[in-house]
Amino acid sequence: MTDTSAMNDRGAARTAPDDLVDVAVVGGGAAGLTLALQLLGQRPGTRIVVLERQGHPVPEATHKVGESTVEIAGYYLREVLGLGHHLQSQQLNKYGLRMFFSKDGNDDITRRVELGHSVRPPGAVGTYQLDRGRLENALGHELLARGVRFLPGTKVESVDLQPDAEHHRLHVRTDDGATRQIHAKWVVDATGRASLLKRRLGLAKKVGHRANAVWFRVGCPIDVDQWSDDPDWHARIEEGRRELSTNHLMGPGYWVWLIRLASGSTSVGIVTDPDLHGFEQLNRFERALEWLDRHEPQCAGIVRRHRDKLQDFRVMKDYAYSCEQVFSADRWCLAGEAGVFLDPLYSPGLDLIAISNSLITDLVTHALDGDDTGERAAIHNQVFLLIAEGWLSIYEKQYALMGNARVMLTKVIWDTAVYWAVPGLLYFHDVLRHLGDRPDMVVGLARFSTASQEVQRFFREWSAVDDEPRDQAPFVRFYDFDFMSRLHLGMTAGLADADLATQFEANIRFIERLSGQLVATVLEEFEAEPWNPAKREQARRWRADEALMSLVEVHLREQESTPLGDQWIRLRPADEAVGTGESR
Ligand SMILES: Cc1cc2nc3c(=O)[nH]c(=O)nc-3n(C[C@H](O)[C@H](O)[C@H](O)COP(=O)(O)OP(=O)(O)OC[C@H]3O[C@@H](n4cnc5c(N)ncnc54)[C@H](O)[C@@H]3O)c2cc1C
Repeated sequence: MTDTSAMNDRGAARTAPDDLVDVAVVGGGAAGLTLALQLLGQRPGTRIVVLERQGHPVPEATHKVGESTVEIAGYYLREVLGLGHHLQSQQLNKYGLRMFFSKDGNDDITRRVELGHSVRPPGAVGTYQLDRGRLENALGHELLARGVRFLPGTKVESVDLQPDAEHHRLHVRTDDGATRQIHAKWVVDATGRASLLKRRLGLAKKVGHRANAVWFRVGCPIDVDQWSDDPDWHARIEEGRRELSTNHLMGPGYWVWLIRLASGSTSVGIVTDPDLHGFEQLNRFERALEWLDRHEPQCAGIVRRHRDKLQDFRVMKDYAYSCEQVFSADRWCLAGEAGVFLDPLYSPGLDLIAISNSLITDLVTHALDGDDTGERAAIHNQVFLLIAEGWLSIYEKQYALMGNARVMLTKVIWDTAVYWAVPGLLYFHDVLRHLGDRPDMVVGLARFSTASQEVQRFFREWSAVDDEPRDQAPFVRFYDFDFMSRLHLGMTAGLADADLATQFEANIRFIERLSGQLVATVLEEFEAEPWNPAKREQARRWRADEALMSLVEVHLREQESTPLGDQWIRLRPADEAVGTGESR
């Protein structure tokens, strides 16, 4: 745009050219900074300003929460934004998700059932543990180096949305108290929980999921591998170090994270269902420590040993929320936590940023190039909310399951398989922004969403009547099951369009089949115990459930032609190392 068009924008005629931009990004956190980088990469020359109320540089270690990434976010940062060098040299390569389930008072980690990798996942789908301060500082430098106006210490006080004019108007105040206006064709709200535009437009939407979190950083490494010198326990890991996993200590209604950071600190967080662990038991550091003493004594002992190195302590009550709308043809968008945040389990926060930023980039660049974007905005909005809210059933009323090692393990395998098979495949193949042209895939997504709701309900019902301790595999590896490595590597297959459609359909079918196998296997077990009234009654209800039975039919039909082992559900001690070798 030239200064001439500025003259057409009422009130903008006296604006200095610097304060007239194509895109104003409000908030320079992970979402805003990465979006600016992506926009510029996609459409060089776009005039972007990023307005961040905090000064820079920000502190390392304690700056923000959200330190673990999974595959979509890893791919976004490395491949889409080209941050590979920063990730390799300034952050830590993550050694996958690892969980330890509660056993015998949780004072000996070797006795706990463990889920995790034994060998490194393939580099092509690498993931990272992020020091968020380090990341934001690096992104700020990168933006300035590429000529983006990144203005830390600048608070946006209000936004006048003017869809009928050429520019919206932002009122900003800098740290020295000076005020001015910025005029922008597009405004992106990336203010995180401050949710500037969401509040202003009344778009906040409640969700049924309730959970709380507290977290702190200690200024030293906490290395889970040093929690025992048992040689057998150490021998489980063939390659890599547990301390580089996103380690989770799991118990009824809670999980505790331990995440190493490249700056030398360790992030520790406790996430709880308020019905099982009241917030007041955790909302001060001393209380959180006492809570750890009761539920996670081995971890508590180590934190106590390092308490002189405590760097911060933060709390967040009732953190989950959604949004009625995130993108608009009236030239505004909500990015990152300014829109939706559901739950930190499985680290989807930066994934949602990757997905929403990619859709915003597509929308805004088309609009700036003069395309009519009314329909595009509406479709992108639906796609994003379908995916984001689709994640909700994974969490809603599911925290009680975390104390049931077998059900939760099966759920984690199912949730992970689904993540790789559906959003992972679509994101890695850059299809999400074209879904409006792919009705076949939208139908597939809807089918998947239905199966997903059913299966999450099934997990809940299963756990409610099957919570007796049992013998089971002490160490379950993600790649013990051939389908897991196939789905994981499938994300990076680089398929051409027609092959992708076929693969997506095959993945949806496979997820339905896995769901059916799950139901059939647990049903068989319940029906083998007719003397147990709770199991008998639950089995009767499942048999009468048409949705579940149609999934079972899919499984039974396919089992004849392509048998699939059920070890991922039975998880018996003999099932340890159950893989057939495809992945290892
Ligand atoms: C307990 C917990 C654990 C989590 N763990 C993970 C995890 O392991 N992995 C993961 O991927 N995600 C995780 N998340 C989510 C992750 O933290 C968020 O997805 C991410 O931080 C959101 O980034 P953002 O840029 O949207 O918001 P923020 O990082 O909050 O950035 C918003 C920015 O806007 C600025 N701002 C606000 N108002 C204004 C204004 N008026 N003017 C100018 N600037 C303004 C703020 O200063 C801030 O810098 C977790 C979340 C929680 C609650």
